[in-house]
Amino acid sequence: MELSDVQADITEVLLTEQQIHDKIAELARRVEADYAGQRPLLVGVLKGAVMVMADVARELKMHVDIDFMAVSSYGMSTESSGVVRILKDLDADLSGRHVIIVEDIIDSGLTLAWLKANLASRGPASLEILALLRKPDAAKVDVDVKYFGFDIPNAFVVGYGLDYAERYRNLRGVAVLAPHVYA
Ligand code: 5GP
Repeated sequence: MELSDVQADITEVLLTEQQIHDKIAELARRVEADYAGQRPLLVGVLKGAVMVMADVARELKMHVDIDFMAVSSYGMSTESSGVVRILKDLDADLSGRHVIIVEDIIDSGLTLAWLKANLASRGPASLEILALLRKPDAAKVDVDVKYFGFDIPNAFVVGYGLDYAERYRNLRGVAVLAPHVYA
């Protein structure tokens, strides 16, 4: 599906497929350098991080492990509740592993702060975060994101894994959802 197929539902294309691809390549080069000789474990949060995980993992020219967990997030609403619940836990044992959390977007940062603390308690050798998108409020949160892609405005965005009521995840770019869709 192309962004043009849902043009009436979006107000602005923030990032094209090409821009995302170029940025992920850039981040992957840094990860390769930082983890040379190691085999990091990439941890993604379902379902939003699926696209960024798939692209980051394939861009990395090194051995990596991939694992996913599912936590509760916005559901059908467009605002963070701050309540995080594990719906599906990781398969991997994190002890002694170099773990990189792969995230789609940081808004309030509540989800990520909780996730980082939770994974840190499992004894990884190191724990870093890669996030493709960051909203303005995230800057106020004290979560150190080592690899991040783009700062975006404070709007509700969809595409590249991000949904509204489970739709739009398969858009190749990232776009601002038109208010009439969720009004
Ligand atoms: P936070 O806890 O940082 O406020 O929100 C984290 C989660 O909320 C993200 O992983 C994502 O699932 C969801 N989220 C935050 N902002 C947006 C947005 O603009 N669009 C969509 N589709 N989901 C968002």
